[in-house]
Amino acid sequence: MADSNLAGMVECHECGLFLRARTPPPGGKAKCPRCGATLYRNTGRGLDHAIALNITGLVLLAIANIFPFMSFKLEGREQISTLITGVMEFLEQGLWPLAALVFAVTILVPFAKLVGTLCVLIPLRLGRRPRYLSGLFRIVELMHPWAMMEVFLLGVLVAYVKLTDLATLELGPALFAFTVLIFVLGAAESSLEPREIWNALGTNGHREPGGDRSGERAIGCHVCGLVLTEQPGTQRHGSCPRCHARLHHRKPDSLARTGALVLSAAILYIPANVFPVMTVVSFGKGEPDTILSGVKELIHADMWPLALLVFFASVTVPVLKLSGLTFLMIAVRRKSRWRLKDRAFLFRIIESVGRWSMIDIFMISILIALVKLGSIATIEPGIGATSFAGVVIVTMIASMMFDPRLMWDAAEQNSDGAGHTNV
Ligand SMILES: [Zn+2]
Ligand SMILES: [Zn+2]
Repeated sequence: MADSNLAGMVECHECGLFLRARTPPPGGKAKCPRCGATLYRNTGRGLDHAIALNITGLVLLAIANIFPFMSFKLEGREQISTLITGVMEFLEQGLWPLAALVFAVTILVPFAKLVGTLCVLIPLRLGRRPRYLSGLFRIVELMHPWAMMEVFLLGVLVAYVKLTDLATLELGPALFAFTVLIFVLGAAESSLEPREIWNALGTNGHREPGGDRSGERAIGCHVCGLVLTEQPGTQRHGSCPRCHARLHHRKPDSLARTGALVLSAAILYIPANVFPVMTVVSFGKGEPDTILSGVKELIHADMWPLALLVFFASVTVPVLKLSGLTFLMIAVRRKSRWRLKDRAFLFRIIESVGRWSMIDIFMISILIALVKLGSIATIEPGIGATSFAGVVIVTMIASMMFDPRLMWDAAEQNSDGAGHTNV
């Protein structure tokens, strides 16, 4: 009896509804009945499957880093690039923030995530649960949105189409390994449900208190999803017994932090559009390109699908994120009850689409790595690219800081005030 009646409870991370967890059929998903968010999946796969895929991923990542990625031939000269050439080129031009960013999201984070996942799964498979496992898995989960290999591949595609008229391009073995790696990582992702891992990691002997529990309310851990009781009258909630993250009823200062980041990103978006993102120097003549002039050039070259793709990633997505988050924050402040489910859907889109804006940055990293043939043709990165990368990163963090449950809280307060409650 002393053991929790909260065991097996889940909190919807998007609307804050507490539910009793039910296992969906293999391959199925459990969805929140109120907001429609996916709560967890039943992958129907064992740990062995995920371990095999992660090891395959490591091998492919090694191949992708060792062998040539692409080569560029023009007027008898050849330039071979590897995965890291673009990073080195950014460094040489003094744009170290871009070098660090591209290195992190295409090489470091994917590598750390694969190794980290294996370091959690292998001990679990062997029936061991050393104390560091939950802390490690927490870090692995945090890395998730920052591995951007599929976005990088799209950047490669754009760069390839841009250059293919100018010169002879040859694809290297690393590019093929990289492409297969993206599919392997996708399969590894879908074979692993974080909730199952957290449950397997256990709560280190944590017990819910027994006795009188009236006046207590449930609190869900933001990181691992464990549902606990919150002592009445206490302001400080302590830390989660399973993953050791600080417990909060809602993300702290969510609106203020999101607001500050949205404003910073909006300011950064101005230099990102005004200054050139790159300069093509051909036979001594330089032609600076801004984001929009790059799109215009693609239209002039009759590359419509590519022009649309770059316009969508570099203009539509950042504007959608900035205006969308502003709209969601205003709606919370005004305690709006209007179209809650649609707003939840809008937030889901904002969160998932943000990383695709990096296409332009990745394309530039490929172009500067390949096109450096001295006076014949050279492409140099511009300061606009640093600002634009800043916009992407800051808006990604802004959407992470926004707590969508505030929308439902605000609507609930509003309906209480009107003497009307909705379950
Ligand atoms: Zn929900
Ligand atoms: Zn936790």
